[in-house]
Amino acid sequence: MTRTEQHIAIIGGGWAGIAAAIELTLADRRITLFEAAPQLGGRARAVQWQGLSIDNGPHLMLGAYAETLRLIDLLGTRNTLDRRRLRLFGPDLDLRLPRLPAPFHLAVGLATAHGLSWPEKWAAARLIRRLQSQNWKLVADAPLADWLHHEGQPERLIRRLWQPLAIAALNTPIAIASAQTFAVVLRDSLGGPRASSDAIFTRTNLDALFSEPAQRWLKAHGARLHTGQRIRQLRYDGDGWRADDHPDRYEKIILATSPVETTRLLEGHPTAALKSALGRLSWQPIVNLWLHFTDRLILPYPMQALGEANAPWVIDRQETADGLVCLVASADGAHCQMDRDHLLSDWLALLEQRCGPLPPLHAHRWIHERRATFAATPDRPRFHAKTDLPNLWLAGDYTHPDYPATLEGAVHSGVQCARSLLRALV
Ligand SMILES: Cc1cc2nc3c(=O)[nH]c(=O)nc-3n(C[C@H](O)[C@H](O)[C@H](O)COP(=O)(O)OP(=O)(O)OC[C@H]3O[C@@H](n4cnc5c(N)ncnc54)[C@H](O)[C@@H]3O)c2cc1C
Repeated sequence: MTRTEQHIAIIGGGWAGIAAAIELTLADRRITLFEAAPQLGGRARAVQWQGLSIDNGPHLMLGAYAETLRLIDLLGTRNTLDRRRLRLFGPDLDLRLPRLPAPFHLAVGLATAHGLSWPEKWAAARLIRRLQSQNWKLVADAPLADWLHHEGQPERLIRRLWQPLAIAALNTPIAIASAQTFAVVLRDSLGGPRASSDAIFTRTNLDALFSEPAQRWLKAHGARLHTGQRIRQLRYDGDGWRADDHPDRYEKIILATSPVETTRLLEGHPTAALKSALGRLSWQPIVNLWLHFTDRLILPYPMQALGEANAPWVIDRQETADGLVCLVASADGAHCQMDRDHLLSDWLALLEQRCGPLPPLHAHRWIHERRATFAATPDRPRFHAKTDLPNLWLAGDYTHPDYPATLEGAVHSGVQCARSLLRALV
C-alpha cells in the first residue's frame, strides 16, 4: 500500500476535526470523518429558533486568528465577516484602537480611552511594555488576579479593563485563570500588528460561515463524511484501527473529540498517563440569552459590556433579524446559580440602562453551555498531537500548547495534528 492509499479516520467534526480533514485532503490523503451530531461544527454551530438560524453562542474572532481566516478564505466565506477596529466599550470604559501602525494604535488608544485615569493608563501601558520586554513569558505562571496585583495594577483598572478582557478571552474567572495564557492573548492581540487586534464578527451563522462550506468542500474533494454517527468503540488489531462495526480499517486515526469523549474512546487501551491528564482538565460554562425584540435596537458597536468585572456583554445580531441580540456571560459566576426569571429581568434592566427604553420582547431563549471550554488555569495539563498509542493522534482546542479554548486554538490544533501525521508518513 502506498502512503497516499493509507486510510485515515477522524473522529469528531468540530472545527479541529474539520481543519485536520481539510489539511489531509489538501495533501491528497484518503480520509473518513465521523461526527456524532447531525451537523458538523461541534461547540461552534448554528441552532434553529423560531425560523431563525442563531448560534449556540455568538463567536468573536480576532485578526490574529491566522489559521482560521486562512481556512475561511479557502472555503470562500470571508465576505460574511464584519471586521472592525477593536473597541472595548461599556458604561465605564471606551477604548478604541485607531487605524495607526503598532504600537502607536495601542498607545493612542490607551491615551484617549474614556473611563481610565492617567495613573491607570500608565499602569496598563507599563504592564504591556514589561510583558513585551520579557517576550510575553512570565518567570512563573500564577493565577491572573494575584499576578495583576503583584504587578501593581490598580483595582479599578482590573475591574474595568483586565477582568472583562480576560474573562471574554479565557472564559475563566481571573481568580483561577492563567496569567501566562492571558499574556499570550495580549501578545497576539494588543501586542501584535494593528490588524491582529481587529475584532471580527460574523454576519451570518457559524454553519454558513464554516461547517457547511467545509462539508461541501470535503465531499467535492473526495473525503468521506458520516454525520449522525457516534463512534462507541475503537479497536486496534496490530495492523490498523477499526471503529465500531464499520468494515474499513484505518491505518491512522485522529481523535478530534472533546477530552471527556476522548477518555471514553480510549477505554481499554493502555494509555493511563494520557487518560489521567485528560481527567485533570476542568470546565467553564457560558450562558447565552438570545433576545428577539419586536423592533431594532440602536447599538453603536456590535459588542459592548453591560457593566464592569464579569457583567454580561450584548452582541448585536440584527444582520440576522431586526431586534435580535444575544447577552453573553462568560465563565462561572453568581449568574449560573440564579433563577432564570430573575436573571432575565436583571439583564433586561442592564440592557435598558445601556440602550434606553427597549421595544417589547417577542421571544427569548437561554443556551447554557455547561462545558463550553476547558478552564485556562495555570496547572492545566498539556498534550501532544502524537500519542503513545500506535498511529493515534489527538486534535482539539485543548491540545493547543498555549491558547485558551478558541476557534483559532481548535483550527490550529487540527492543522498541526494533520501535519504531524503527514510527517509520520514520510
Ligand atoms: C457558547 C460558546 C461561545 C464561544 N465563544 C467563542 C468565541 O467568541 N471565540 C472563540 O474563538 N471561541 C469561542 N468558543 C470556543 C470554541 O467554540 C471552541 O474552542 C471550539 O469550537 C472547539 O472546537 P473543537 O473542534 O476543539 O471541539 P468540539 O467543537 O467540541 O468538537 C468535538 C466534536 O466531536 C464530536 N464527537 C464527540 N464524540 C464523538 C464520537 N464518539 N463520535 C463522533 N463524533 C464525536 C462532537 O459532536 C463535536 O462535534 C465558544 C464556545 C462556546 C461553547
